Amino acid sequence: MPETNPNPPYKRIATEEAWAPAEMLDLYHKEIAEKTVDDPGFHSLWGFFAGSSDIARAHNRRIQDLDDERLRDMDRSGIDIAVLSLTSPGVQLFDPATATSLATRFNDELAEGVARHPDRYVALAAFSPLDPANAAKELERAVKTLDMRGGILNSHTHGTYLDDEKYWEIFEAAEALDVPIYLHPQTPPPKMIEPFLDRALDAAVYGFACETGLHALKLIVSGLFDRFPKLQIVLGHTGEALPFWLSRIDFMHTRISVSNRHPNVKPLKRKASDYLKENFHYTSSGVGWTPPIQFIREVIGPDRMMYAMDYPWQFLPEEIGELETMPIGEAGLKQFFEDNARALFKIA
Ligand code: CA
Repeated sequence: MPETNPNPPYKRIATEEAWAPAEMLDLYHKEIAEKTVDDPGFHSLWGFFAGSSDIARAHNRRIQDLDDERLRDMDRSGIDIAVLSLTSPGVQLFDPATATSLATRFNDELAEGVARHPDRYVALAAFSPLDPANAAKELERAVKTLDMRGGILNSHTHGTYLDDEKYWEIFEAAEALDVPIYLHPQTPPPKMIEPFLDRALDAAVYGFACETGLHALKLIVSGLFDRFPKLQIVLGHTGEALPFWLSRIDFMHTRISVSNRHPNVKPLKRKASDYLKENFHYTSSGVGWTPPIQFIREVIGPDRMMYAMDYPWQFLPEEIGELETMPIGEAGLKQFFEDNARALFKIA
């Protein structure tokens, strides 16, 4: 592996870095023991990470830490600033009222951690998507009083997708506050997950990308961005592969939307790919591989592709050196590691 540049002419900002408070992990452990929520994806993923293997215990320790260990790991990796968010599925595992009250508490706790190291962290706010009025209020409180830089949406909530207009006041608030929503994966819902499970394809290997990519496309074709044209969504994992589909999505969606065969599909004001170019930003979380990053810079635009490590889920310090081999010049690397994240998350 190529070495990380020890003195780069830019700061490195990692934009999809996970955190979990002890209280939430305790609730997850309880859920795994009692199985009150029917969610095979949750049990498949967290059944392992809440377990007692060495990998699980190291993960549990790292994901809770906001002080010495995390900062040491960032230093070791060469990361200057982390954009922190509540790990998936966050509060969305719980019923809407519980999720609403937990989101407030966890946002307060995360903001306290950020305040202890203000030059190293910024954070995104959790909210309860199925309680949209309170979710919008919490987003506003988090941005205005906790200095958070956007929201984290761990994709579907109990199989519900936010392309349904009754949830759009969350997006209205994000647009009005001029902050992005990070559309982060979670395991596919019960109606979708079954064929993934027997070959263990349900989580980060492929299921996350299918489910989250679907959510992003549902938002686009619902007309969400025609209603809120300035709204900005962030996709990790090199856009959950959507940038690869731009041409085919445009061709097929145009054909479908004028066919009058689908009551919930109407023509959009712009081409489907225009929304992916103008209303979405992308990160490299979990993908320490240069071709898709360069592809997104080419087909979407170099000002919309950012670095993320996905710590501690995919803690790979050596990927930074690998990514610094991209033949995009110092200015391109600065854009990728620093400038784009500073602009989107308003990092001074
Ligand atoms: Ca992640």
